[in-house]
This record gives sequence, C-alpha cells and structure tokens, in this order.
Amino acid sequence: MSAACIFCQIAAGAIPAKLVYEDAEVVAFPDINPAAPVHLLIVPRVHIETLADCENQHQALLGKMMGLAPRLAREHGVGFEGREGAGGFKTLVNTGPGGGQEVYHLHVHVLGGPRPWKAR
Ligand code: 5GP
Ligand code: ZN
Repeated sequence: MSAACIFCQIAAGAIPAKLVYEDAEVVAFPDINPAAPVHLLIVPRVHIETLADCENQHQALLGKMMGLAPRLAREHGVGFEGREGAGGFKTLVNTGPGGGQEVYHLHVHVLGGPRPWKAR
C-alpha cells in the first residue's frame, strides 16, 4: 500500500467509500465525479501505477477485473441484454498523461446508463 495513494487508502478502508464489490484482490466503488449515470471503478488492492506497469504475474488479476465488469454492470442495471436491447456498458483504462490518467493506481472504469454522458 502507498500511503499517498487515494485508491490504496480506499481499498484499505482508511478513506470511506461505498464498496459495491470486494474480495481479497479487488474492490469496486462509484466514481466520485461520475461521467455517466452508472460509473464504477474496479481497483486492485495491490498498488500498480498503470496498465503499462503490469507484468505476466498480473494477468490473472487483470482478467478478474475485466471479468467483473459485466457482472457489476448487470447488478447496476446496465448489463448487456443482447444486440437488440438498450443495455450495455463501456470499460475503460486510462494510461498516463496521454491517456488522461488522473489517479496513478490501476483501475477499470465501468460506465453505463442513458446518454448523453460527460466526455470520458
Ligand atoms: P483516471 O482519469 O485516472 O482514469 O480516473 C480517475 C477517476 O477517479 C476519476 O474519474 C475521478 O473522478 C475518480 N476519483 C478521484 N478521486 C476519487 C475519490 O477519492 N473517490 C472516488 N470514489 N473516486 C475518485
Ligand atoms: Zn495505490
């Protein structure tokens, strides 16, 4: 854990957040400044700064984070309902200044709900 890192502190319970999911490796909670009606962040407990810092050892963790996205989307009413349905969601990982990353602790955004959304 990095004491200076906001997501480490949320994952450790040192800063309160409404966790919508937690297990030994991952937590998820609503974005404080939502860009869409549903905007969740999936965050590993381990401090990895960016997607570009991930190594082979992190493949299972990355898979878990991506695999969690459709489940959390479904639980928040924006799950994929097939190509004819209205449901569905966006998964997003920003990396570095060029990618618009603001918090340097790896996270997957899950966005969904009626548009328009704020640009993200
Ligand atoms: P990034 O641009 O790094 O991909 O996204 C960081 C996201 O974290 C932003 O959407 C921002 O609103 C969110 N965020 C920043 N600080 C906090 C916080 O303290 N709590 C929560 N829940 N979200 C935060
Ligand atoms: Zn961290």
